[in-house]
Amino acid sequence: MNAPATPAVTDPVQPGPMPHVMNTYGRLPIALSHGRGCWVWDTQGKRYLDGLGGIAVNTLGHAHPKLVPALQEQIGQLIHSSNYYQVPLQETLAAKLCEISGMNSVFFCSTGLEANEAALKIARKFGHDKGIERPEIVVYEKAFHGRSIATLSATGNPKVQKGFEPLVEGFVRVPMNDIAVLREIARTNKNVTAVFLETIQGEGGINPTRWDYLRELRALCDEAGWLLMLDEVQCGIGRTGKWFAHQWAGIVPDVMPLAKGLGSGVPIGAVVAGPRAMNVFGPGNHGTTFGGNPLSMRAGVETLRIMEEDGMLAHVAKVGAVLKAELDRELGSLPGVKEIRGAGLMLGIELDRPCGVILERAAQAGLLLSVTADSVIRLVPPLIISEDEVRQIVTLLAPVVKAFLAEGQAA
Ligand SMILES: *Cc1c(COP(=O)(O)O)cnc(C)c1O
Repeated sequence: MNAPATPAVTDPVQPGPMPHVMNTYGRLPIALSHGRGCWVWDTQGKRYLDGLGGIAVNTLGHAHPKLVPALQEQIGQLIHSSNYYQVPLQETLAAKLCEISGMNSVFFCSTGLEANEAALKIARKFGHDKGIERPEIVVYEKAFHGRSIATLSATGNPKVQKGFEPLVEGFVRVPMNDIAVLREIARTNKNVTAVFLETIQGEGGINPTRWDYLRELRALCDEAGWLLMLDEVQCGIGRTGKWFAHQWAGIVPDVMPLAKGLGSGVPIGAVVAGPRAMNVFGPGNHGTTFGGNPLSMRAGVETLRIMEEDGMLAHVAKVGAVLKAELDRELGSLPGVKEIRGAGLMLGIELDRPCGVILERAAQAGLLLSVTADSVIRLVPPLIISEDEVRQIVTLLAPVVKAFLAEGQAA
């Protein structure tokens, strides 16, 4: 057997492929350089109306005149300390989140999947504390909860899971809005400890849970002793015109993961817990280095403060209704448009065919948006968007959609 040749220490380093960012996204050849309000500019100087808000992240738009100085001040004071020490801004933000949610306690992290991962751990430990050795969690078809191994297992999209098996076990999958299925599970499966769903599904195609279903689910969870865990990572923080989307149903969950819009662009995640879940974790059960750092906490505190000061919830309800009405008027009756749905500034236009190409064509027309679940055009603009600007979204979008649908007819 020949031993592999040992390279001489003087061998030059072989030139490898060009260093690059790992290729995990299908990207457009556009690089954004700066923004102001709901407008962004690319490095070529082209201007776009932002109908995407960094995927429901840039709550206050870009370069907000109240947010920027506050963050600048915070960066000059303290960006990160450590959870070995007290972080007073965590207490401030937790108090505010509890006040607006009617819940009791908060764990801070940095992303949506982390918030969901924490929720899943709470659900399992809640089960173990009750003597259930193999706790199971009810999850939904078309759900999206993130891309860690546990959260992609909870996700109801085979494309997200493919290639990453074996999946984490302990999930029971059900269809949306069917309470009979849940009643049957309550009757037959004593290992279930929690029900986990997005109040309005985002990546799955802007699919709202019915408010009466949510109320029935709340009652069933109480009866069965399950935790009701609502992923409001995308639909929370004022997106629908209430602080949290489930508030339209008049219920309060036991566990609520948050992230995206909470820091207006600064990475932040949070899990808010009610009385039944707030004491499940104790010291040593969970943690993360970046979670609750002063910069992200300040971003959260200022985002909520500015939203309140500027009457953002009423504003979202108002301009969201205008956007929906304008979309209905311009596109609603076109053959090829199946449904326009959602709440507030979280709207989806479902076409009767895959329409991924609309992302690029809208960008060419000067409008940022996304396409999700293959055939749903998603609009989640910054919440500060004006009535005039939501009308401009429709003015820019309508010709793109009409041209796209006309092509299909010609073919
Ligand atoms: C985006 C999203 C996540 C994942 O958040 P990341 O910050 O990308 O990890 C989880 N749940 C929902 C509902 C989301 O929209």
